[in-house]
Amino acid sequence: MTLHAPYDPDNIFAKMLRGEIPYIKVYEDEDTLAFMDIFPQSDGHTLIIPKHVEARNLLEMPTEKLAPFIASVQKIARAVETALSPDGLIVTQFNGEAAGQTVFHLHMHVIPVYKDRPRQRGHATGKPADMDALKALAAKIAAAL
Ligand code: AMP
Repeated sequence: MTLHAPYDPDNIFAKMLRGEIPYIKVYEDEDTLAFMDIFPQSDGHTLIIPKHVEARNLLEMPTEKLAPFIASVQKIARAVETALSPDGLIVTQFNGEAAGQTVFHLHMHVIPVYKDRPRQRGHATGKPADMDALKALAAKIAAAL
């Protein structure tokens, strides 16, 4: 897998968009879907993906579709701040395996940072989080939208 490869329609995020595998939804509109990362780096780690595109990364995203995508990223970041009161927020995105990307459908991470708690784990590692805890966090974030 490199920066330049065909889009795989069977990547897990594409499967979520087709409703083929479960996820914990935070927000959805015509252009985007936001859900909890099941290997969260901290409480509230949320992913935002664009719908109706076959873009593996930011470079492949049609420019005219960026605005609604970034608007949703900001919406989620604001809701995470309101719901969870972190001390900081990392908003990030990886392009290509060499850069750390593991799922090849464009997505943005919103990762809260809490001064009194070290980040729980590294990027995309370890065991999945407790699903009930993730659902409770998703409900809190959704209520702050
Ligand atoms: P990246 O490594 O930047 O491509 O990010 C992919 C993210 O997807 C990682 O943070 C993973 O923890 C997360 N992830 C992998 N599988 C799932 C899943 N089934 N549901 C939610 N998040 C997932």
